[in-house]
This record gives sequence, C-alpha cells and structure tokens, in this order.
Amino acid sequence: MNCPNCEAPHTRVEESRRTAEIVYRVRICRVCRWRVTTEEKAAEEQSIPDAIRKPKKAQAPVNSA
Ligand SMILES: [Zn+2]
Repeated sequence: MNCPNCEAPHTRVEESRRTAEIVYRVRICRVCRWRVTTEEKAAEEQSIPDAIRKPKKAQAPVNSA
C-alpha cells in the first residue's frame, strides 16, 4: 500500500496482530517513517490452507543437469 503521508509505495509491515476476526498491521513508510495501522479481515487468511502458509523446506533442485 502507499504511504498516506507522502504516498510513497514503500511501506513495510512492522508488526501484525491478529484477533479472531481482524488482522491489524502496523506499517512504516520507508521514506518518511510514517506509521499507519491497517485492519484486515482475518477470514481471508483463514481460507488459505495450512500447507501453503508453511515455509517450504529442502525442495529438490529442479535443475539437475
Ligand atoms: Zn511516507
């Protein structure tokens, strides 16, 4: 998302907090350091299967040549 202060597209997620229904994310603008808290509905994330959210480990290299 863009920074609401300077509209720079470079914001990073500093912190995320999750409740039963809402995910709060604190984002910080890399340009002006503006902090903005966003709320997102957790329902969308919950619909993602667990398998996708876990980090992939030790994938066999595709390029065996
Ligand atoms: Zn900014």
